[in-house]
Amino acid sequence: MASTGALERLRAGNQRAVLSLLAGEGPMSRADLVRASGLSRTTVSSLVAELIGAGQVIETDDRARPHKGGSGRPPVLVRLSAPTGGVAGVDVGHGHVRVAVADRAGTVLAEDHALVDVDAHGTEVLDRTAAMVRALAARSELSVEELQAVGMCIPAPLDRRSARIRTGIMPGWQGLLPGEELERRLGVPVHADNDANLGALAELHHGIARGRHDVIYLKVASGVGAGIILGGRLHRGASGIAGEIGHVQVGEDGHVCRCGNRGCLETMVSAARLLELLQPAYDTPLTMERLLALDVEGDAGVRRVLTDAGRTIGRAVADLANSLNPELVVVGGTLGGSPTLVEGLRGAIDRYAQPDTAAALDVVPGALGVRSAVVGAVALAIARVAAS
Ligand SMILES: [Zn+2]
Repeated sequence: MASTGALERLRAGNQRAVLSLLAGEGPMSRADLVRASGLSRTTVSSLVAELIGAGQVIETDDRARPHKGGSGRPPVLVRLSAPTGGVAGVDVGHGHVRVAVADRAGTVLAEDHALVDVDAHGTEVLDRTAAMVRALAARSELSVEELQAVGMCIPAPLDRRSARIRTGIMPGWQGLLPGEELERRLGVPVHADNDANLGALAELHHGIARGRHDVIYLKVASGVGAGIILGGRLHRGASGIAGEIGHVQVGEDGHVCRCGNRGCLETMVSAARLLELLQPAYDTPLTMERLLALDVEGDAGVRRVLTDAGRTIGRAVADLANSLNPELVVVGGTLGGSPTLVEGLRGAIDRYAQPDTAAALDVVPGALGVRSAVVGAVALAIARVAAS
């Protein structure tokens, strides 16, 4: 039998889950909360009653958000009580910085992005990012002091305990603690996570994975990573680096990877690798944009390379799916925009995963495109404020 302490911890954890769902999604009905949290109707009902008693949650007449399912009389919605101040989301990509300032309900008030050579210049990028946050806060009629948290996306695995970027991935960031550095510049708590985890959070709260519980989100762009949602929550693993599917070995004597190993998945399917494979067959310099356009136009060479890339990724995802039995695989990142790659990926899952595992899952492109990381960073900031 569980001890009283264990039950209290469980209850507190469930309360945080409800608060973070309301923080991420805005007003929800109790039925929505049951669906999104995976908790029982009785548990949700009693948690909501407690939170209303504690003044943290109120019932609302807000009917602005459409009812997400079912028919019949419109449900009573609950929302976080009187959220004030705001949050910011920061997406540091390999070649860009995107910043959004949002209210506590997650509505983006101002957003901007800049093209920057991020990997080579850690300190300068952090200075510029802090300046963007200040400017956007001002544009949202908030002072930086009114920001309660900043979510920060880093395009590399972050060690949860040391908060350092794992060595070898971003040369200009060696020894830097990105979250701490941005926090020092802004004077606001900064919570950092990687792009695949935040993409997963974004699709879970605001995109194609809403209401789903067991989801693999793949980010396929200049690298390959996965964000894993289990039981409706992001699974970060013991040290925060779960989902590093890009470094699964697919070729014993393949190319040397930026992580130091050989034959990693992302050495075969990264955006740069695909462009390098295709370039000799084209007269003009190929870009990712052009490659995606050629896919839609039906270009045979482009489709061949994208199908092969999808199959290579799908082979690794099939093993992960066999272990996790997800209901949904979301393909995000630049290459998630290629229907041919998504189809190749689906084909390899059907071929290599157990038939029941393959039949239980859908494979879909992400809904949030280039904004997924910044939307996820905002959701992370809101969740951390709600849980604090
Ligand atoms: Zn690697």
